[in-house]
Amino acid sequence: MDSRVAYFCMEYGLDVKMKTYAGGLGILAGDYLKGAKDHSYPMVGIGIKWKQGYTDQRIDEEGHPYDAYHNYGYDFLEDTGIKVSVTIRKQPIACKVWKVDKFGNVPLYLLDTDLPENPETWITGQLYGWFGEERIAQEMVLGIGGIRALRALGHDIDVYHFNEGHALFAGFELMREKIETGTSFNEAWAQTRKEIVFTTHTPVVEGNESHPIERLLYMGAANGLTVEQLVQIGGAPFNMTVGALRLSRKSNAVAELHGETANKMWSHVEGRSDIIAITNCIHKPTWVDDNMIQVAEADGDLWQAHLTNKIALIDFVEQRNGVRLKEDKMIIGFSRRAAPYKRSDFIFSDQAIIGPLLASGQVQIIFSGKAHPLDDTGKEIVTSLVEMSKKYPESVVFLENYDMTIGAALTRGSDIWLNNPRRPKEASGTSGMKAAMNGVLNLSTLDGWWPEACEHGVNGWQFGDGFESDNEAELDAHDLEALYRVLQEEVLPTFYQNKDKWVQMMKASISSTKDRYAVKRMLEDYYNKLYNN
Ligand SMILES: *Cc1c(COP(=O)(O)O)cnc(C)c1O
Repeated sequence: MDSRVAYFCMEYGLDVKMKTYAGGLGILAGDYLKGAKDHSYPMVGIGIKWKQGYTDQRIDEEGHPYDAYHNYGYDFLEDTGIKVSVTIRKQPIACKVWKVDKFGNVPLYLLDTDLPENPETWITGQLYGWFGEERIAQEMVLGIGGIRALRALGHDIDVYHFNEGHALFAGFELMREKIETGTSFNEAWAQTRKEIVFTTHTPVVEGNESHPIERLLYMGAANGLTVEQLVQIGGAPFNMTVGALRLSRKSNAVAELHGETANKMWSHVEGRSDIIAITNCIHKPTWVDDNMIQVAEADGDLWQAHLTNKIALIDFVEQRNGVRLKEDKMIIGFSRRAAPYKRSDFIFSDQAIIGPLLASGQVQIIFSGKAHPLDDTGKEIVTSLVEMSKKYPESVVFLENYDMTIGAALTRGSDIWLNNPRRPKEASGTSGMKAAMNGVLNLSTLDGWWPEACEHGVNGWQFGDGFESDNEAELDAHDLEALYRVLQEEVLPTFYQNKDKWVQMMKASISSTKDRYAVKRMLEDYYNKLYNN
């Protein structure tokens, strides 16, 4: 019998109309639940009904990103009739439990504090809107509220899966339940550890959230634990990843390379769970054009099938931005959160090399991606991309307000999927998997999932040979030289002079990824390696 799993995540990317996601973490969680439904795994999801979701980020006249928020409502949510209470800053906060009914055997419950009886209704207002006290309040709703919701709904759970450290307070609630019936702290911790598994996603040290101990106490997040006990679990300041590693029986990273990085990163943490690697996957029906897979398998005209998707993308871009790209010229797609390590504007680094290729239209590039609303550096990156689209209006496009619609269009219709994070900072990345299965060839540094899948010149290309350096200038110079070399000596000649080889590579891209990175494989791994033992 498969374990009954409660999957906790701050965000879920289910479809474009549901504004309950920000980026990759939510897309993964959404794909995970869809996969659990398709393959009939015993799972329930716990999340938050975000009133305004993540930012709607548009570009103003001067080319700067700005954030706008709207209230969203969903008529397909089912009212479970259940409310649970979480005490936050000494005030009881009611959390209404909604059910997303699209998932049949895999219910997703979303907690909501936007209720008339609440002194504070805004806790579930904006996804990742705040960092300090408000973030803790949100995490208390997810974690403590989530466990209480499961109890009130009557779900029997064998394993609690924390997808990222946001759900950590669920562990405190599981401990409180035991301590209240007379179990000692140490015994409650030991028992609770047996019930929890944890997935870490953040190989960038600063990306791992931490809070002063006093803040946890003030907010009520300690949930009855003492200062000493909190420090034992998460250190001081209290690190949510460290805490989750110590509260879980087993953990995982989301790609092989990320597994190595995470084990190094957290090697100093005593009493933590082992971190194994389970590489992420995608939900094919959501992201992949089934026709591409069928034509590839039947040895049909794959270029023609791709061209249909490419023209759909060209039309989409024209509707959005009024620019019509050329179907006989190469299109590079790039969409990511604008964070420095992802180097969104990397390809523009040497204008002497890239300028002529853009001016001649040999290279056309479509960008998309949001910066976190409070991240000024990220916003400057977006601004620089928009500037490039003004400099090369026929060849460079920036699509504002990145979402699942843009993500799907780009990973179907581009010719090349460019990915150039500073290795080893990308945990996995899943957009490259979407591209690969759609016959869109990856051109990427050997980071995230790509080292596992890449056969250079066969199913896509790598550049940089896995070089790493703490000296960012050195790393960037190394990778840039490699990017331009592979682009000019391999990618462009293949596209323009050897279409047969290109189509061969598309076929290899599809066949080498379509099963290995489909969500079924990931679920099997999670059940075999994490849940069922
Ligand atoms: C697929 C997808 C992601 C995750 O892709 P990465 O490769 O991790 O950047 C994020 N946002 C959207 C809208 C997506 O479609």
